[in-house]
Amino acid sequence: MDVFAKVAPQWTNQATHAFEFCCPKCGSSSREAEKVWLNRYAPVITEGYGRKWQEFYYCKCSHVWWAWNNDRPPADNLKSHRDNPI
Ligand SMILES: [Zn+2]
Repeated sequence: MDVFAKVAPQWTNQATHAFEFCCPKCGSSSREAEKVWLNRYAPVITEGYGRKWQEFYYCKCSHVWWAWNNDRPPADNLKSHRDNPI
């Protein structure tokens, strides 16, 4: 799977906007998603934030959701490093 593919994968069509950075249906975090697609080719310019883009997640409960990348809690990144040491 190419998370930076230019063309949106089919499954992103049914995405709902999550206002918390987790699955609105079951509460799973983005790290538990089965598929991820980052819409890096259509960033939105915002005042104060610079650029932001949509991140799409296909949850393990088969719900599809998206959120802005700048809504991702910083702790989420740190935690994923700790859980998946490279
Ligand atoms: Zn879910």
